[in-house]
Amino acid sequence: MKKNILASALFCLVILVVHAQQHLTSGGKLKPEQAIMDIRHYTIALDVNFDEKSIDGYTTIDVIMAQPTHVLLFDLLDSLDVRQVLVNNKKEPFEHKNDMIRISLADELPAGRAVVKVVYGGKPHVAVRPPWDDGFIWSRDSTGHPWMAITAEGTGGKLYFPCKDHPSDEPNEGVDMIITVPKDLVVAGPGLLQNVTKHGDKATYHWKTNYTINNYSIIFNVGDYKVVSRDYTTVDGHHVPMQFYVLKEHADKAEHFLDMLVKVTHEKEKYFGEYPWAKEKIGMVETPHLGMEHQTMVAYGNKFRYTKVGGEDYDWLMHHEFGHEWWGNKVTAKDWADYWIHEGINTFADVLYYREFGGERAYIDQFKSFAPRIGNKVPVIIGKDIDEEAAYTDDIYAKGAFFMHTIRYVMGDSLFFPALKKFVTSPQYTYDNLVNTDDVEQFFSKEAGQDLKPLFDLYLYTVNKLDVYVKQLPGDQYLIQLQNMSIPLPLDISSDAGTKRLVVNAKGITIKSKTLPVIDPDMYYLKKITIE
Ligand SMILES: [Zn+2]
Repeated sequence: MKKNILASALFCLVILVVHAQQHLTSGGKLKPEQAIMDIRHYTIALDVNFDEKSIDGYTTIDVIMAQPTHVLLFDLLDSLDVRQVLVNNKKEPFEHKNDMIRISLADELPAGRAVVKVVYGGKPHVAVRPPWDDGFIWSRDSTGHPWMAITAEGTGGKLYFPCKDHPSDEPNEGVDMIITVPKDLVVAGPGLLQNVTKHGDKATYHWKTNYTINNYSIIFNVGDYKVVSRDYTTVDGHHVPMQFYVLKEHADKAEHFLDMLVKVTHEKEKYFGEYPWAKEKIGMVETPHLGMEHQTMVAYGNKFRYTKVGGEDYDWLMHHEFGHEWWGNKVTAKDWADYWIHEGINTFADVLYYREFGGERAYIDQFKSFAPRIGNKVPVIIGKDIDEEAAYTDDIYAKGAFFMHTIRYVMGDSLFFPALKKFVTSPQYTYDNLVNTDDVEQFFSKEAGQDLKPLFDLYLYTVNKLDVYVKQLPGDQYLIQLQNMSIPLPLDISSDAGTKRLVVNAKGITIKSKTLPVIDPDMYYLKKITIE
């Protein structure tokens, strides 16, 4: 059981290391030329050549300009060659360097809608150790068939298509993905498959999503796949196709895998409401890399290595990546600085599975195993306008999750769980409406009916722990006091009279006990105890 969470911690650690090596990142301070541009839709049409490890085609970008301009700026890695740029069907001069395409328009482009077409191709960046670094993965399955995948969480979409590579701007009207491959291979993409056209020795797959989507989820996979599917009925009664693009050689494992996914989806819907993309599909695809939360086609590469929770098969990777459909894809941070909202809340959600099928004790034991691994070297949030590489620390997972564990304890289940579901089902905080930490804090403070900001500030903006002072007084009495918290907090205190949940504040409380009181024995807080 513990190994799972350790595995995901190791998983994050390696991501950190490789990210640092590559310096390929996204987000950060928004460039003024891009700040006036609202991305509405991408059409990505590419022919994939496995022998050459190359792609060739075009991307069309639908934008709305907030004001007139003579310059358009898009992100695309220099590893690809731009051949032509058209703005509203008119050829325009451009320069492609430093991973940016700068289009200098002869005539001023008015405010309003515009369509930019970029014709390009070449050899996209190849990942070194996916998914711990980003790039194309040109692999083969054990039968020798090409097996290709892409990861782009750190680098962003600019890895292989021209875009505005910033978490604050998603294509709100969706994406069309038109991918051509050798005819015996299958393309797995986001949204719903519109059609497959066979022509000569090639096949073209047209995938389409109408939902807003993170740039790094605009991904396709190619392989010798079998599609194993079933109908899933959501908690709100909608019928949604559940599809697993599994390698033909593993097709015998697919039905059990989908049984597990149905169980996980029910569990997620119980806590977070209906599956977010119910108009399209629940999708998972087998990949040569470990995994990633690609919207409606989640990448799964854990090789069916299951463990047991509550006596039944459990896959930590499936559960974690699929959980991002709610936390990361439906609720999305507009600044990587607030990345903990994706990874911290989603890792907390991982532990809820233990609560659900292993019991409360299993849940508590998970968080007890988290605490020693929280590095606490840098705050979870290190500023504003932070790029992905800088924001990505392993504490956004473990400490972010532990923070939600503390908030649960402070609010109490009768307030906390309805609030958590209310947040992830509120139009104000989901889909097109991106969020930041202030949104989360203000919402939970309101739902809690108390100001939680001091707790948010302590856990997320500092490396300090809750400081609890215990002083022995005459007559078998003890003073218990909070040293660095301006709001009163509940605290489990074990004394010779048993364990009680008492409210402690900066002024302190006095309790009678013949033995030294034990503070917070079940570890609901990241704390430092000072005993005098
Ligand atoms: Zn994650």
